Amino acid sequence: MKVINPAERLLKSLGVTEPAEIDLEAIAYDQGAEVRYCNLCGCEADILGYKNRAIISVDENKAPQRKRFSIAHELGHWHYHRGKRLQCRIEEYQPKQKIQAERVANGYAASLLLPHYLVLPRARDRKQLNFKVIEEFARDFHTSLPATAIRLVEADIWPCMLVCHTRTGRRWFTQAPMFHRRWFPRDELDAQSSAFDTLFGKSEGGSVRQLIGADAWFDRNEAQRYEIFEQAKRINSDEVLVLLTIKDNKMIEEEPEWSNRRRY
Ligand SMILES: [Zn+2]
Repeated sequence: MKVINPAERLLKSLGVTEPAEIDLEAIAYDQGAEVRYCNLCGCEADILGYKNRAIISVDENKAPQRKRFSIAHELGHWHYHRGKRLQCRIEEYQPKQKIQAERVANGYAASLLLPHYLVLPRARDRKQLNFKVIEEFARDFHTSLPATAIRLVEADIWPCMLVCHTRTGRRWFTQAPMFHRRWFPRDELDAQSSAFDTLFGKSEGGSVRQLIGADAWFDRNEAQRYEIFEQAKRINSDEVLVLLTIKDNKMIEEEPEWSNRRRY
C-alpha cells in the first residue's frame, strides 16, 4: 500500500475520479495560481508568487503534453517551495534528476498527471507492458510517452526496465523496483539490438517485442544464461526508448553465488 502524497490528496479532494478530469488550469486556480500562456524566452515555464496568489507562465509554443507537465511542475514548486527563490529549469522528465528542488517538483507533477490511484487499477489489468499499452495510457492521461513509460515501469507491476539512448550513448534508465539492482545497462547500444536499427536506421520501432541475449544489454557473466524481451520506440530523431522485460524470473532473484566468479 503506497502512502498517498500531496498531489494525489489534492486530486481526491477535488473529486477527480477519471483521467479526463485532471484539468490543470482549474487545479491551479483552486491553488490560487493563474495560468498564462505566452512567448517565453529561454525557459518553458516559471512561477511568480506573492502571499497566496501566483502566476504560472507557460511557453505557448510547446506541445500540449509539455504545457500540462510545466503547469504541474510549477504547482509542485508552489506546494513545496513557496516563498523560496528558485531558478526553475524544466527539463524533460527524467528519472534520478540531480537538482533536489527540480526533482521534488517533477515528482509532484508525475503524481498530479499520472496519480497512482487512477493508474494502478487500470495497469494491473494488463498482462504485460509494451508501447501499445503505454500509448493508451499517454492518450487517456494526456501525458508524454517518456513520462508515461517511466511512471508505468516504476509502478512495479511488471519486471521491466526502461532505457533511453541517443546516438552518443545511454542517456538515462529506470527500472521496476523488482528488477534486481545488479542489472546495470551498458553505456552503448549493441548492434544486434532492434533499438540500434531504430536509432540509426529508418525504423520507427514500437512494433512487436523481440527476444535477445541479455548480454547485449548487460555486462555480467550470468547475462549469457538469459534471454530478455526488448521493444524499441523512437521518440525523436536522436532518441529511442527501449523497454526491456524479463523472460526468466531467475534473472531477478537474488544474485547466485557463482554469477560473478572468475573462471580460470
Ligand atoms: Zn522547476
